[in-house]
Amino acid sequence: MTYTLDLPVPKRALAVAAHPDDVEFGCGGTFAKWAAAGCSIHHVICTDGSKGTWDVDADLSQLVITRQAEQREAARVLGGTDDVVFLGYHDGELEDGLAQRRQLAHWIRRLQPDVVLGHDPWRRYRLHPDHRRAGFLLTDGVVAARDPHFFPEPGLAPHRPTTMLLWEADEPDHVEDVGEHLETKVAALLAHRSQLLSTMAIDDEADAKQVERFRRRVTDTAAEHGRSVGVAYGERFKALRDL
Ligand SMILES: [Zn+2]
Repeated sequence: MTYTLDLPVPKRALAVAAHPDDVEFGCGGTFAKWAAAGCSIHHVICTDGSKGTWDVDADLSQLVITRQAEQREAARVLGGTDDVVFLGYHDGELEDGLAQRRQLAHWIRRLQPDVVLGHDPWRRYRLHPDHRRAGFLLTDGVVAARDPHFFPEPGLAPHRPTTMLLWEADEPDHVEDVGEHLETKVAALLAHRSQLLSTMAIDDEADAKQVERFRRRVTDTAAEHGRSVGVAYGERFKALRDL
């Protein structure tokens, strides 16, 4: 596989994810790099993240509020200045129907991103239904947003992004060099404090060893992704062009 390296820094970029923290895992380094270079970065989070705990007695409505605050903080750490968009569907129950597609088309038209990023919906053996459906909502939302006859909205012009980057891709062919921005990615991930145990294997954030072990996990993945193109640290994607 031949990889391309680094898109030109877009003016605006939009990441669409199933859950709070998916954007930071998928493209946190890329977002940090672009934001530092003047790009306006945006998050659309499809579900409320209400199942993101192993605590069977957890107060789930409180968890939703907590996770939204954490996601806003993570976006701020990456360099985002706009508010995060939460579509608020129940965690684990995201549908990719027409109503959801219309919402995605709306946000793509409204935010006018040059580059959109999201889950690769075609990844084989992908189990989590929300990741699959959020991926298809992005691809289908782009098709709708670019055409004036799909879900027409008075006052909102059609919009066609130039490139789509899909993370966790089956057939990656593009890498963004995130060398200097890896620490920002780690900091943004650690902002999702309610997820430290379930997704980052940290049960005590005061334990420097555990935090270091997580940092190493992120670093090792970035090193592996960077190796494809000879940079120290990268984030790997499938790039779809000519949208
Ligand atoms: Zn997720």
